[in-house]
Amino acid sequence: MDDQLAERLADVDARIADAARAANRDPAGITRIVVTKFHPASLVEALYALGVRDVGENRQQELTSKTAEVGSLDGLSWHFIGQAQSNKARAVRDAASVVHSVDRGRIAGALDAAGQPQSGVLDVLVQVNLTDDPGRGGVSPDGVVGLAEHVAGLAGLRLRGVMAVAPLDEEPARAFERLAAASARVRTVVADSDWISAGMTADFPEAISMGATHLRIGSAITGPRPTRG
Ligand SMILES: *Cc1c(COP(=O)(O)O)cnc(C)c1O
Repeated sequence: MDDQLAERLADVDARIADAARAANRDPAGITRIVVTKFHPASLVEALYALGVRDVGENRQQELTSKTAEVGSLDGLSWHFIGQAQSNKARAVRDAASVVHSVDRGRIAGALDAAGQPQSGVLDVLVQVNLTDDPGRGGVSPDGVVGLAEHVAGLAGLRLRGVMAVAPLDEEPARAFERLAAASARVRTVVADSDWISAGMTADFPEAISMGATHLRIGSAITGPRPTRG
């Protein structure tokens, strides 16, 4: 099991390096986050032993229980990539190092208010909806600058950039081009907010070609997710 995990991780990392070279980019400028959702905490520990230092979770309850189970591992960052509810902001803030999915002022305000004197500043990204369906997560591209300005005004949060999931019915590179445009607009608000969180198992090479700095890769590394009823 761990042999296969090591092989898949090495294979994905080789593909990341290839895609970076093809785009004339330094692979060292790309952070590979391993999405461990639905898998047990033991998988996080196995990944850590293989050198992984960034993991991603998309549900608050799972994030909370897994961080408690794994405990503190030196240098391990937990990225929250799912829909956040304002009334769970405290739990997210307690467990996450980075929140990728800030898509409205209310959740930004709740994450800010959840900070404790000792908690320091929370790194956040503004999630952009690249689909035509307002029901999907993310602020519409038109709302990105307004939300970025709002986040920039909150002392407990540090705006780092933008995040998105590619639509299913569109060439991913085209969608990621719109995300790159949103990133440029966000950088007019906070100049160094240059993170672009994009690219999953199916589309990370395209995301790299469009400037992604943070990849969120699950099944290509972890294998198929256990099903949840
Ligand atoms: C599950 C998930 C991923 C990873 O998906 P894979 O296709 O398994 O790589 C990335 N981003 C988000 C927001 C997710 O929920």
